[in-house]
Amino acid sequence: MQQWDVIVIGAGAAGLMCAIEAGKRGRKVLILDNGKRVGRKIIMSGGGRCNFTNMYSSPENFLSHNKHFCKSALSRYSQWDFIALVQKHNIAYHEKTLGQLFCDNSAKDIVDMLLTEAKTAGVQIALQQQIQQVSKTEAGFIVDTPDVSRACHSLVVASGGLSLPNLGATAFGFQLAEQFGLNVLPLRAALVPVTWQPADKAVFEEISGVSLPVTVEANGTLFPEDMLFTHRGLSGPAILQISSYWQPGDDITVNLSPETDINEFLTNQQQSHPEQELKTALSKLLPKRLVEKLLDMQLVTNQPLKALHNKTIQNIANSLHSYIFKPNGTEGYRTAEVTLGGVNTNDLSSKTMAAKQHDNLFFIGEVVDVTGWLGGYNFQWAWASGWVAGQYC
Ligand SMILES: Cc1cc2nc3c(=O)[nH]c(=O)nc-3n(C[C@H](O)[C@H](O)[C@H](O)COP(=O)(O)OP(=O)(O)OC[C@H]3O[C@@H](n4cnc5c(N)ncnc54)[C@H](O)[C@@H]3O)c2cc1C
Repeated sequence: MQQWDVIVIGAGAAGLMCAIEAGKRGRKVLILDNGKRVGRKIIMSGGGRCNFTNMYSSPENFLSHNKHFCKSALSRYSQWDFIALVQKHNIAYHEKTLGQLFCDNSAKDIVDMLLTEAKTAGVQIALQQQIQQVSKTEAGFIVDTPDVSRACHSLVVASGGLSLPNLGATAFGFQLAEQFGLNVLPLRAALVPVTWQPADKAVFEEISGVSLPVTVEANGTLFPEDMLFTHRGLSGPAILQISSYWQPGDDITVNLSPETDINEFLTNQQQSHPEQELKTALSKLLPKRLVEKLLDMQLVTNQPLKALHNKTIQNIANSLHSYIFKPNGTEGYRTAEVTLGGVNTNDLSSKTMAAKQHDNLFFIGEVVDVTGWLGGYNFQWAWASGWVAGQYC
């Protein structure tokens, strides 16, 4: 039987980082992955340029049933540590917006960097592995694949979440957690577009492609970013962000003009251009196709501004500043960037990422109930939790 100090399951962001750190400590490390290549989500992330971290990353940017759990790892391996690694490898990068750092060239630069580090640290990688069984022994664990049984002292589960099943996502990590008595909190697709109710689809699908800056709010959380109308529903960064806070049946309240007070704007326009039509005035604030749709829906009636009463202007402003959508659902794991929920952090040590009941069984990355906002936070969690586990496994 092959003997390893550490077996890491999953050659994604968290698994590679953990294996590198464990290898640097002189541990004999093997990564097992079910895919043909490592870091498949890294490669396709950020539109192929990988939004690898966020300069403003802090624990407030993460969702978890225990919001304190992520603090230790995020402070011990911060965005600045990962940026220093990227700089060490001379990878060109830039800030796109809101502290989000992307590769100038390609996400492959990040994978190549991790593979170089892994090679230097003596990490071995076995791809296309179908793990059939994991069992616990006195000395550690045995991991069985059809061809070989491998023993290890420490087992690290870094098999990610459920999003993009066609990229190799499986429920393996959640099932393994349950096998070893850890609690798995309910799973849900997040950072995902929402879909129309049939009636809204009939109205809004015609304006698919229209995008505008908004603020969106659900369950008391608010994000100011862009929103995109699609054939299926609403998308864009604002909607992806709020999807993590939205629950089926909830409303999403959209401020279609967050920068400009519509009441004040229309009142001023009425004074300066009384003959101007409402449609023309609103088109100075909102995309023309959206304004036309609002007229079609008779949410507003086109007429010269001089004909509008103060009360009517106020009503128009109110409805556009807090337009309510009631999504039918989300597009699910097919397009979601992450899985919300996962291995209950109450069952893990925040210092080591080891299971409290099995101190040589570790869970890191997306399989854990820590989910970041859109904007490089999820990779930062993968790097940080992987780095921490790599110090102890
Ligand atoms: C389209 C897309 C774009 C994204 N863009 C960004 C971005 O720009 N910035 C950001 O911060 N986050 C982004 N994310 C989220 C980010 O990719 C994940 O949060 C991150 O990859 C999680 O890292 P991980 O190592 O935990 O899991 P993963 O990277 O998913 O790695 C898990 C690995 O385990 C393997 N595996 C699964 N099951 C098994 C099994 N049974 N046996 C063996 N191996 C298994 C998988 O094949 C995979 O290689 C994006 C996600 C998607 C889907």
